[in-house]
Amino acid sequence: MMTPKNSEPKIVTCPSCGGDSVYAPTNAFRPFCSQRCKNMDLGAWASESFRLPTDAPPDDLVFGDAKLQ
Ligand SMILES: [Zn+2]
Repeated sequence: MMTPKNSEPKIVTCPSCGGDSVYAPTNAFRPFCSQRCKNMDLGAWASESFRLPTDAPPDDLVFGDAKLQ
């Protein structure tokens, strides 16, 4: 089993800005590089979940079609 040296912190790519991010307990926002990037990612998730599809047919259209038959 190989253990990396503590003097060499693991650097990962920040999912938000694509920059270098220190993946270590000293970085409270990992895998993000900063609190700003973490907040940006959470904001993107929130706006994505609030986006609802609006192409559903209205109910009265289906009801009227059924009455004709
Ligand atoms: Zn970042």
